[in-house]
Formats: sequence, C-alpha cells, structure tokens
Amino acid sequence: MKNIIYLLAICFLVPSIAYSQKPEETEVWTPEPKLITPGINPQAPPSDAIVLLDGKDLSNWSDLKQNPAQWTLENGVMTVAKGKGDIKTKQGFGSCQLHVEWRSPAEVSGSGQNRGNSGIFLMGRYEVQVLDNFNNRTYSNGQAGSIYKQHIPLVNACKPPGEWQTYDIIFTAPKFGEDGSLLSAARVTVIQNGVLVQNNVELKGETVYIGQPKYTKHGEKEALVLQDHGCLVSYRNIWVREL
Ligand code: MG
Repeated sequence: MKNIIYLLAICFLVPSIAYSQKPEETEVWTPEPKLITPGINPQAPPSDAIVLLDGKDLSNWSDLKQNPAQWTLENGVMTVAKGKGDIKTKQGFGSCQLHVEWRSPAEVSGSGQNRGNSGIFLMGRYEVQVLDNFNNRTYSNGQAGSIYKQHIPLVNACKPPGEWQTYDIIFTAPKFGEDGSLLSAARVTVIQNGVLVQNNVELKGETVYIGQPKYTKHGEKEALVLQDHGCLVSYRNIWVREL
C-alpha cells in the first residue's frame, strides 16, 4: 500500500509542482533598497565609444525581425512606441561598458511593474530593469537597477518621473564550452545616476519572468535589446565601449 502511495505521489504530485509555478514565487520583496538622492552625472561619449543613439536617427536599431525600428524620435529623444515591440542594435556586443540615459513619463500612470517599465537586455538576454520606482513599490528584485528577478539593487537611486536618469553598465559576457556547458558566468556592475547599485554580480542565467534562470549557449556577440513593455519610456545618448 505504501509503495502505491509513493508511486502515485511521483506520478501526479511531482509534475503538478513543476507545472504550477507562478511569477510571484520568484519575487523577492525584502530587503527593500534604501531610497537615496543621486547627484549629477557626466554624459558625453568618450572618443573610443560606439555611439548607438545620438538623437539624429535610429539607423543603428531594428525591430526583432530586422525591420526598421518603429519607436518614435522627436527632438533627439527616442521613445517606446507601444505595441511596436522591442528594438535591438544591428551590431552585436559581448563584454562592454554601456552608457544609457532613460526617462520615465512625467505623467504618472499605472503602478508596480506597470509604471515606466522598459529594460536593457544585454546580449538580448540579461535584463537590467528600467522602471519608475520613485514612490512606486514593487518586488525588490524587479525594481529599477535590479538584474530582473536575480539581484536586488544596493539602493534605490531613482530620480522623479520625467527626469533623465543614467545607467553606466560594465558587463562581462559569459563563456561557453564547445558542448554548450557554462565555463564562466556573466557578471555585471551597474551605476545608476552616479551611484553603484550592482557591484560585479554574477548572473544566474537568462532573465526569465517565471521560474529559475539558466544559461543557454549563445554567440560571443549578441544584439543589445531595449524593451517595449507598453510604457512611454524615452532614451537618449546611448553609447558603448567594447572590452
Ligand atoms: Mg522591464
């Protein structure tokens, strides 16, 4: 009888646990990063940078199907065009130093993950979260400056909505063996508005919304992706230095 119960448990219970995961299971709410007030940052690209967005055109970007990027460009500012989808760089990058300036809408709408949500996907896979977390609580490992669902930012360095913010990101690409095995994990440092929010943290794998992250072998250089999460987040002055 005992054996039959064990057998039933293995047959029915184990698969049902595996398939009943919810996004809430990987939300971490404590600790809540302390709110601090950032200073003012330097912004101009250095002479050896590859400028990805100079405000003149979107020629370095496409949508995910290689068609011209459909986001709006006005007065040197690129803004998410809701529903037009993510955009990506035409050029691929591995380890790099990346500078991005972003702004969440001055007119606040939505709450939690639906307020000024976008994201910077390094190598198209590893998300540094972009979110308006000025007086907007969400799970700590999903707020601005987080490595989404992996690493909580050290502090909340967000400026108010409508103000420009900076991310300076230092990214070390992961390395894979011929057989697809992981030789070394990706690492990332993020400075938001001149304040360190991620200190050389090790990535657990590709960003996932549900379940646990894992690595899948990819190229040595992959496009940088910006997320259309249905919020009117703007970008300007994006540049990268390959390492
Ligand atoms: Mg996002």
